[in-house]
Amino acid sequence: MALIVQKYGGTSVGSTDRIRNVARRVARYHREGHQLVIVVSAMSGETNRLLALAKELSADPNPRELDVVAATGEQVTIGLLAIALEAIGIKARSYTGGQVKVRTDSAFTKARIQSIDDAAMRADLGSGTVVIVAGFQGVDEDGNITTLGRGGSDTSGVALAAALKADECQIYTDVDGVYTTDPRIVPEARRLDTVTFEEMLEMASLGSKVLQIRSVEFAGKYNVRLRVLSSFEDPEATSQGTLITYEEDKHMEKATISGIAFNRDEAKISVMGVEDRPGIAYSILGPIAAANIDVDMIVQNIGASGHTDFSFTVNRSEYQKALDVLSRERTKAFKAREIIGDSRICKVSVVGIGMRSHTGIASKMFKALADEGINIQMISTSEIKISVVIDEKYLELAVRVLHQVFELDKAPSAGA
Ligand code: ADP
Ligand code: ASP
Ligand code: MG
Repeated sequence: MALIVQKYGGTSVGSTDRIRNVARRVARYHREGHQLVIVVSAMSGETNRLLALAKELSADPNPRELDVVAATGEQVTIGLLAIALEAIGIKARSYTGGQVKVRTDSAFTKARIQSIDDAAMRADLGSGTVVIVAGFQGVDEDGNITTLGRGGSDTSGVALAAALKADECQIYTDVDGVYTTDPRIVPEARRLDTVTFEEMLEMASLGSKVLQIRSVEFAGKYNVRLRVLSSFEDPEATSQGTLITYEEDKHMEKATISGIAFNRDEAKISVMGVEDRPGIAYSILGPIAAANIDVDMIVQNIGASGHTDFSFTVNRSEYQKALDVLSRERTKAFKAREIIGDSRICKVSVVGIGMRSHTGIASKMFKALADEGINIQMISTSEIKISVVIDEKYLELAVRVLHQVFELDKAPSAGA
């Protein structure tokens, strides 16, 4: 008997038929004698619909109230799944984040989990009851409802698994595992049986939305056994999906590049003709940080005649805010010839721990893009990834070409 946390995403609970299907899978695990905690997202499209309602009423809704609205999506699905389970004779009990006490900080719309009270869940599990918990939501110390950022139910699932010391956390979604890249963009993408924790962390942070980045961080910190699977398969099927592994093992697939990630949610800002002097980066990025805007890539060119150009990327949702901050600071903190914004960019990254032991990956990547006439606007690298910023109209072409050039559709040979 194992304690298993299963998380089901929006499409997996997108209709009453899908919810019935989830109930059948839960029933199978229950029949096998496992203790089960089920975390669910809102029905697909529901969180977008709720946020759009708020935006109809205000261009800048109060984040506390936005969370009150957004959190309702998951309250519907926990209740429906409990009803579906009881209809097939399985004892189940639903909990909102506040009822479990998923305690978070008070950063509305992007709260972080601080602690989880497992007492009520343990009592239910002890009596054979299936526990159903609303993903994406928590409660702060003053009792306010909070949400964990888009895609946050993954993090709820992993955090509950960590708190309960579950044997495994299974993330059920609409694809049957982690692929070499998004299979919606490249049909030849290949499912990986295993992916290392480090690679998954990079892929998630670089835009592969199959797992929310914070869920991977949590899994690493608490050593949660994490697996991605499809909820669309027959509930009686026993697929393995993709297991996130914490150690590089000799028998694992040996690939130089394991995957390609992309992100359409960034925008680039270039501050042209600033003085080339100590402190200039701080005078531009200091006010951006003070406005709580996260910066991703940064490039400063070599200056000529005492001046230089400075570019950086931010999330598209904070693009206008960043431009406003800079135009306010322009004459106070720094002088610039021109500030240029471009929101029609994207970031494409190749990821793989094999990069540590192989050279020439960057030049292979740059040549493949050059051969297609794709101009690289920015580059950043780490030990196991190379990212480029390009025009968003080339996103699909770039991902396909890189997938082909690095032969990701073919299984690499087994370990040396
Ligand atoms: P859920 O609603 O279940 O949380 P998401 O839409 O958040 O599902 O995440 C699943 C989607 O992630 C897939 O449908 C797929 O299009 C996308 N995706 C992006 N990159 C990858 C990848 N490398 N492997 C698998 N899926 C990926
Ligand atoms: N329902 C939330 C969202 O759409 C959380 C999730 O699906 O993980 O972002
Ligand atoms: Mg998701």
